[in-house]
Amino acid sequence: MGDGPATLAQAGYLVAAVLFVLGLKGLARPRTAVRGNLLGASGMLLAVVVTLADRAIVDYGVIALGLVVGAAIGVVAATRVQMTGMPELVALFNGFGGGASVLVGAASFLVAVDEGTETVDLVVAAALTVAIGAVTFTGSVVAFTKLRELMAFHPQQGKLVRVANLIGVGAVVALGLALLAQPSNELWLWLLIAVGLVLGAAFVLPIGGADMPVVIALLNSMSGLAAAATGFVLSNSLLIIAGSLVGASGLILTRIMCVAMNRSLVDVLFTQLAAAGGGLDPDDIYGGRIKSTSPEEVALMLDDADRVVVVPGYGMAVAQAQHAVRDLTRSLEDRGTEVVFAIHPVAGRMPGHMNVLLAEADIPYGQLVEMDDANPTFARTDVAIVIGANDVVNPAARTDPDSPIAGMPIIDVDQARTVVVVKRSLSPGFAGIPNPLFAADNTVMLFGDGRDAVVDITKAMADV
Ligand code: NDP
Repeated sequence: MGDGPATLAQAGYLVAAVLFVLGLKGLARPRTAVRGNLLGASGMLLAVVVTLADRAIVDYGVIALGLVVGAAIGVVAATRVQMTGMPELVALFNGFGGGASVLVGAASFLVAVDEGTETVDLVVAAALTVAIGAVTFTGSVVAFTKLRELMAFHPQQGKLVRVANLIGVGAVVALGLALLAQPSNELWLWLLIAVGLVLGAAFVLPIGGADMPVVIALLNSMSGLAAAATGFVLSNSLLIIAGSLVGASGLILTRIMCVAMNRSLVDVLFTQLAAAGGGLDPDDIYGGRIKSTSPEEVALMLDDADRVVVVPGYGMAVAQAQHAVRDLTRSLEDRGTEVVFAIHPVAGRMPGHMNVLLAEADIPYGQLVEMDDANPTFARTDVAIVIGANDVVNPAARTDPDSPIAGMPIIDVDQARTVVVVKRSLSPGFAGIPNPLFAADNTVMLFGDGRDAVVDITKAMADV
């Protein structure tokens, strides 16, 4: 290949990189998000085309096969997945990114060693690629099973696993150095991958309850870092840029999530959480104190209200209640009632989960208020409607130091005049702990599926 095509390829990469950055910038605001998404996707298309055209030794047959198999799996996964399964799918896709990095990093390294072209730079980049990629792969698979609630948090085993993790981190560093000293000894590469795989699973295994959002954001960031390291292995500047963008934005998200949970990253990764359930016994909390209500009663309360705050949670996604909630909001607004939505940063099962659902139902972004802005307003709120939220409105976070969510900022719905909680039963949320809010004097429970309950309230309001 002459200089001409190579320069052309670099120019193509530059344009793609600019498109990625503009795309990310667009994604920062709801109004420009769709355009941002399109810009990012066009950048990726350009990157793929340029890369394929630039590599003289590419076997297009194999690439076409990979494309067909990958696209088939992607289409089936994306069309079959329920909206509520989206967070797990995203977690799994992070893992695929890590797994792909391991394969590409290891293959490129072995080829270089075979040809005797392995430089120190390449060995360092390959070691980082396979180590980060392997940790990301198994870490994401474990996160997937936890989000599916297929795997429980075992605090008793947590301490042991965390000690093992520290040893594991040491082992990864030692194996990386061994590979650097003896690149031709393949054993170090395989051991590095194996220890990385074990470490990823062991890292995520003891993390539970309210810390999962931080882990998901961190794994997302690591998949980007693994891709950036792969870029160094392949000497591909665009992969370095794209990977770094994912890595950096994932780290920013990790920080936002840590602040939201009031936890430091070191705490999340290395300290012991309280057992699910904390010190609270559901019978002690709920016994004789639960007041259940009906859609008609709620309609009467709402008819009297001047200000209503809706607090959505994971259950709203399960019930797909967002459209019904919009209809209720509109009918309240038609009566002159002020309605806002208070959004907790970790409500649902993925960052931004509630924002996506509410946007899907055309609820204007201006009506969504972040937790810190919403909390001071509850004292002058007549009715707070909690729809399928549980952990994010659990006052135990403020009052019970033994709780797994102790110290997590929550939405202070309990300070509203009346709280209506819509959920199917007294079952706990993701953190697995009872919620004293349900037994509070100013709380009434409307038991039922989120969507049906909200539809019934709206119908009952028409008769008030
Ligand atoms: P929770 O998981 O605490 O509670 C959800 C509630 O929804 C349940 O108690 C359930 O009660 C109810 N529910 C389920 N299905 C329905 C339905 N069809 N209709 C009505 N209610 C329903 O949700 P939150 O949003 O309050 O909190 C999120 C939790 O998830 C936090 O602990 C957070 O740390 C964690 N998490 C968040 C992530 C993120 O990035 N946002 C990622 C991973 C974890 P019932 O069964 O009685 O109906």
